[in-house]
Amino acid sequence: MPERLIIIGSGPAGLTSAIYASRSKLEPLLFEGFQEGGIPGGQLMITNVVENFPGFPDGIHGSELMANIRQQAINHGTRTIMEDVTEVNLKTYPFEIKSMSGTVYTCNTLIIASGATARRLPLESEKKLWGKGISACAVCDGALPVFRNKELAVIGGGDTAVEEAIHLTQFGSKVYLIHRRDELRASKIMQKRVLTHPKVQILWNKTVDEFVGENQLRSLKLRDTITDEIMDLEIAGAFEAIGHNPNTKFLNGQLSLTDQGYIKTKPDSTQTSIDGVFAAGDVQDSKYRQAISAAGSGCMAAIEAERWMQERSGM
Ligand code: NDP
Repeated sequence: MPERLIIIGSGPAGLTSAIYASRSKLEPLLFEGFQEGGIPGGQLMITNVVENFPGFPDGIHGSELMANIRQQAINHGTRTIMEDVTEVNLKTYPFEIKSMSGTVYTCNTLIIASGATARRLPLESEKKLWGKGISACAVCDGALPVFRNKELAVIGGGDTAVEEAIHLTQFGSKVYLIHRRDELRASKIMQKRVLTHPKVQILWNKTVDEFVGENQLRSLKLRDTITDEIMDLEIAGAFEAIGHNPNTKFLNGQLSLTDQGYIKTKPDSTQTSIDGVFAAGDVQDSKYRQAISAAGSGCMAAIEAERWMQERSGM
C-alpha cells in the first residue's frame, strides 16, 4: 500500500506540514535528511538564538525550537526516517521515493520541503570560526549581544547582502559590505539604499582570504581582486550572503524550477508542476527565507495535499 503522504525535509516547513497532516490523520512519513541538505532540522540548527519566531518572547535556541516542532509532529502521529532521499520518480503514480539505503517507498501525495543550503566560503578558517562571529543569516543572528555597537561585515553583492547590511546597521556601529567586483548585483533600489547609508561602507573588489581569531572572530584578511594587495579589517562579526543553493538535486529535473533553481509553485499555492506534488519552505522561496514563512507554507502544503486527495478520490 502506498503511503498517503510523504514529506521530504525536517526544517520548519516539513515539520509544520507534518503537524497539520498528522492532525488530519494522513499519517505522514517524513524524511529527515542529513547529508545532502545539511542536518535534520535544517538551517535553524546552525543558528544561535531565534528572536523572531512568534511565541518566544525571550528568544529560543534554533535547535531547541526544531526539537520542539519535531516532537509536536511525532506526538500527533508523524513517522520519521533519518535518511536522505536520493531519487524520486514523479512520472509514475503512486510516486516513488528512494532513500539512501536503496529502499523504495510509494506515496499518493508528496510534500517537498528540502530547504536550501546557504553557500559558504570554502576556507579552513571559516569552518573553524563558524558560529563564533561568522553567520550566514543577519536576520537570525545580527541582534545578538556580541555584535552590538561593533564593526561588522557582510560578504556579497546581491539583494541579500544589501538587505543584511542595512539590517545590521540597527545593531553594529558600522557595517562594511565586502564585494568581489566594482558593481553590485542587487536591484537598483537596494543599491541606492546601501550606497547612501551613512553607516555602510562598501569595500569594492575585495575577497576574504582568511577569517582571523582563536575562539572568536577578530578580523578579516582581505585581498584586492585587482591589485592583489592584502589588508586587515578588524570586525566582530562577518555575515556571508553569497547566495543559496536550493536542495533539488534528487528531483533530477522532474519538476519545473525557476532560473535560480527553486521549485516553481502556482501563485498563492504550494502546488508544483506535477499534480499531487507540493513544495514548501526555502526550496521554493528565494524571497523571504524565514522560519516562520517556511512554517506557514508547510501548513499550506499539508492543507492542499489533503484537499487534493479528497478531490481525487475521497481518500
Ligand atoms: P545572488 O546570487 O543574487 O548574489 C550572491 C552575491 O554573492 C553576488 O553578488 C556574488 O557576486 C556574491 N558571491 C557569490 N559567490 C561568491 C564567492 N565565492 N565569493 C564572494 N562573493 C560571492 O544571491 P542573493 O541571496 O543575494 O539573492 C538571491 C535571489 O533572491 C536574487 O534573485 C535576489 O534578487 C532575491 N532576493 C530578493 C530580495 C527582495 O526582493 N527583498 C531579498 C533577497 C534576495 P557576483 O555579483 O560577483 O556574482
